[in-house]
Amino acid sequence: MEKVYGLLGHPVGHSMSPLIHNDAFSNVGIKANYQAFDVEPEMLEEAITGIKALGIAGCNVTVPHKIAVMKFIDEVDEEAEQIGAVNTIVNQNGKLIGHNTDGRGYVQSLIEETNEDITNKRFLIIGAGGAARGVITALLRYGIGDLTITNRTQDKIEPLLELAKMFQTTANRATRAEVEQNLDQFDVLINTTSIGMSPRIEDSPLSLENLRAGAIASDLIYNPLKTKFLKEAQVRGGKSHTGIGMFVNQAALSFEHWTGVRPDHNRMRKLVLEKLGGTIC
Ligand code: NAP
Repeated sequence: MEKVYGLLGHPVGHSMSPLIHNDAFSNVGIKANYQAFDVEPEMLEEAITGIKALGIAGCNVTVPHKIAVMKFIDEVDEEAEQIGAVNTIVNQNGKLIGHNTDGRGYVQSLIEETNEDITNKRFLIIGAGGAARGVITALLRYGIGDLTITNRTQDKIEPLLELAKMFQTTANRATRAEVEQNLDQFDVLINTTSIGMSPRIEDSPLSLENLRAGAIASDLIYNPLKTKFLKEAQVRGGKSHTGIGMFVNQAALSFEHWTGVRPDHNRMRKLVLEKLGGTIC
């Protein structure tokens, strides 16, 4: 019988997950169908009960449900617990297990696409929202040594510094002005905010005047493929890394959780690029 998988989010109309997962299922020869379900926040618990009742084999979870969903499922793995959010659910014979593939997907992409040893780099994280937590957790689990976090709302940085302490990683907070002044101290700058995302493509989270040539500027945003932040970094001799790899890798890792099969990343990436009207980035 054809298995059913899905995405729980609100809204979900523009999601590219159905496109890449349905293609991956047919490409590896698994009979399955992946659909996007638009779930209002007050219906989330019922939707989760529905997964069990209908025998849906697995789900992705996206904005705004990644945190709230944790209280409705049966088990959460250690990584998702540390991140404090779930983006993947596996229905294991009626038991719903939560994982989070966002951070690991990001770190994989950063390493593969920049070809750099990241363990000895000085990191700057811009932003302290859900995506930042996923990325920081994955970087700490991978083993980075030096981390600075800046965010508009400074209070949100504190729990992330606590997390870094658990991994014995040096971590500091800084204001935007402090970071801009000392930008040449960082080897990898990661924009985890939504600043620069379509349609506000002329916005950038930082002034990059003091960027060190050769530093890596990385953006979680993949629409546009090249944000203003990345374009400016390139002009100043920086290397750019876009969010498309994170999106593709988190999807591929979810697919592996559900099926045990590794899908073709390049094929997924090509589909996303085609959909975004881009070529190579
Ligand atoms: P979130 O939890 O709402 O966090 C948003 C972050 O952006 C916060 O740090 C927020 O600062 C900051 N921010 C937003 N608007 C700002 C502004 N005008 N000025 C200064 N700071 C601002 O969102 P999220 O889930 O972390 O997602 C963040 C971004 O990551 C989005 O663009 C999303 O598309 C992208 N993302 C990409 C992938 C991928 O697969 N490539 C996966 C997940 C997320 P405050 O704390 O001060 O509000």
